[in-house]
Amino acid sequence: MGSFALKAEKLVTPLRVIQDGVIVVKDGKIEFVGQEQNISVPEGIPVQDLGDKILAPGFIDIHHHGAVGERASNGAEAVKKIGKFLPSTGCTAWLPTVNALEHCKGIVEAMKSGTDGADIAGIHMEGPFQAPKNLPGRPEVDAHLRKPDIKLLEAIQEAAEGNVRLMGVGIELEGALELIRHMRKMGIVPSVAHTKTGYERFMEAVDAGLTHATHLYNVMTGLHHRRPNVVGGVLTCDGVTTELIGDGVHVHPAAMDIAVRCKGVDKIALITDQSPLAGLPDGRYERPDGPAIIKKNGVCRMEGFDESQDNTMLGSSHTIDHNLRTMVGKVGLSLKDALTMASLTPARIVGIDKVKGSLEPGKDADIVVLGRGLEVEAAYVRGVKRF
Ligand SMILES: [Zn+2]
Repeated sequence: MGSFALKAEKLVTPLRVIQDGVIVVKDGKIEFVGQEQNISVPEGIPVQDLGDKILAPGFIDIHHHGAVGERASNGAEAVKKIGKFLPSTGCTAWLPTVNALEHCKGIVEAMKSGTDGADIAGIHMEGPFQAPKNLPGRPEVDAHLRKPDIKLLEAIQEAAEGNVRLMGVGIELEGALELIRHMRKMGIVPSVAHTKTGYERFMEAVDAGLTHATHLYNVMTGLHHRRPNVVGGVLTCDGVTTELIGDGVHVHPAAMDIAVRCKGVDKIALITDQSPLAGLPDGRYERPDGPAIIKKNGVCRMEGFDESQDNTMLGSSHTIDHNLRTMVGKVGLSLKDALTMASLTPARIVGIDKVKGSLEPGKDADIVVLGRGLEVEAAYVRGVKRF
């Protein structure tokens, strides 16, 4: 594969911010990273000077359903098309996020045949073990849900050939605590997802082995000063990491700020919860299994439902680079902190931080080149330029 070097005025690993940084890539891996004066770039290899651009680790999106009209549950070709789009958003690794055993086969196929886009770093099962939403007139929303069932859990992991890394649990369901204990034994990260229960049950789930929360604030009981609920539990329990949809729409910037102050950037993964309409223009989109979707200003809602009702939002069509800019521009985080939430923290949560998540020697050369406005200018996946 050969070697090359990139240099730029600013390099964020994100453990360090390096002025006049250089990164040397060899055979898809990072060989050296550091300040230009301290690095001896091997003679004869191509060196690209990116001037005032910023070099950063590729983003890792651990909660992502689809893009460019394709859904991760729709088979290997759909998964590959999504993966091919992702480097244009700075995302170099992702966890296709699905709800049913049948969805795993296509993802595993795509993993085996390899993709020419972002790496698939495992599978995130958001369902099927969630509490029902019970939306009025929308029974199909809950149609895929199943009661906690250890045999089904094992069958899902078997269908996924061991690739399920993260899984949602409706913690109030009967058998949920046993399911959490079993997930831990299987090496799957259990995550509180889509729940209407309170603080006490949340802490019981933590005692059973719960360590993660699916999209903090969204589809979970909110903080009240006498009933801290699941949001209060996630914000204060140091043993629990969380996801945050950072599009500025699903969660108010002030609530995102509170989350960062409570948990720190080492415990919050910036996610998209991206819907298949990401990468497509605003408009009306028909779908076979429910009301049409209206995409307006990047937000997707079901047609005919009250816009003021939060529960009618259908994932986000904002991409991870948009969310990074939101964390810096609207929440006021430093670039180093925002990048930590988009790269190293999600890598640690799903256990891939030995090979991905930061610009360090020995890790995969997953690199993003950002302009000064934090727009994505180029992206490399294991040393290959994919955007
Ligand atoms: Zn989701």
